[in-house]
Amino acid sequence: MSKPGYRPYSVRVAALEQVSPSFTRVRFTSDDLADVTRHGPDQRVKVVLPLPGTGLSSFPAGDDWYARWRRQGDRERNPIRTYTLRHCDPAARELVVDFVAHGDTGPATRWVSRAAVGDEVLVLAPDATSTDAAGGYAWQPGRASTLLVAGDETAVPAIVSILESLPDDASGVAFLEVPSTLDVQPVVAPAGVAVRWLPREGEETASHGVALDREVRRWAARHLGCSRVAVGAAAGSDADPEVLWEVPDAEVRDGLYAWIAGEAGAVTGLRRHLVRDLGVEASRVAFMGYWKAGRAEN
Ligand SMILES: Cc1cc2nc3c(=O)[nH]c(=O)nc-3n(C[C@H](O)[C@H](O)[C@H](O)COP(=O)(O)OP(=O)(O)OC[C@H]3O[C@@H](n4cnc5c(N)ncnc54)[C@H](O)[C@@H]3O)c2cc1C
Repeated sequence: MSKPGYRPYSVRVAALEQVSPSFTRVRFTSDDLADVTRHGPDQRVKVVLPLPGTGLSSFPAGDDWYARWRRQGDRERNPIRTYTLRHCDPAARELVVDFVAHGDTGPATRWVSRAAVGDEVLVLAPDATSTDAAGGYAWQPGRASTLLVAGDETAVPAIVSILESLPDDASGVAFLEVPSTLDVQPVVAPAGVAVRWLPREGEETASHGVALDREVRRWAARHLGCSRVAVGAAAGSDADPEVLWEVPDAEVRDGLYAWIAGEAGAVTGLRRHLVRDLGVEASRVAFMGYWKAGRAEN
């Protein structure tokens, strides 16, 4: 039987860095991490969080862990949350995740607010020794000539990784909405890709997603508004309002490729605007609801 593409790694916190008011960078280490890998710059992983009292002891072992985890009762089922593998270095036995703290409202934000060196979690991440296709990433710009990358703070780790991965001749724009000006980070990006940070502070743009929505629409009006042909024929159907995640399979051969991630309502609105109002082919737009206002991940 082949090895699964993803597997749980038992890791402990090696270092914590408060990168900015909203972002905590956690370096995890373990000898087990010799096999960890990532397949795309926005590689997603799952973090299994300890329960008070029992820690990680009730998390099911074995390849069928997911089915068994789902059958567990609330008191013994460890919370699992999705994060971006900001960096991994199997030789150094290290992986890095940038967590956004958002108060005391969920197990992951609670965990990171109290985390200390030596704390243990499980991280479900790709296994380099597996021949199974692990997937777990969306960024597939193909041969697109114009890149539109947009997201809120939860997408910042993925967007910064995407920007770092771009070839020197890449061209386009990245919009990153963050809670405050202090959350703006240094970014490595090709000269042809404009990086626009959108701090949310200030009365007009204080609500989540407002600045991102406005700036992406402005950019699209200037660059795509009257050029349906350049961005492809109209897609026809609108996004299903219940669909919060759509990653096209088809390879983009030219023109626009858009990658949009963040709060589900905000990304759905932007995807709808690009596809329905401006006629961008749906196959050019990857959009991902990374979280949904008012709803826990599971
Ligand atoms: C592919 C993918 C990659 C992701 N990468 C990252 C990453 O690298 N870093 C990162 O910080 N997040 C990332 N996220 C988002 C993260 O999974 C969610 O924010 C998650 O809900 C946090 O779990 P929690 O236990 O803190 O809150 P939950 O228990 O899931 O939610 C509790 C409450 O908090 C709200 N909430 C959740 N997230 C936020 C937020 N950011 N701001 C305000 N309210 C929120 C929910 O609406 C809910 O009301 C990613 C998500 C996906 C799907």
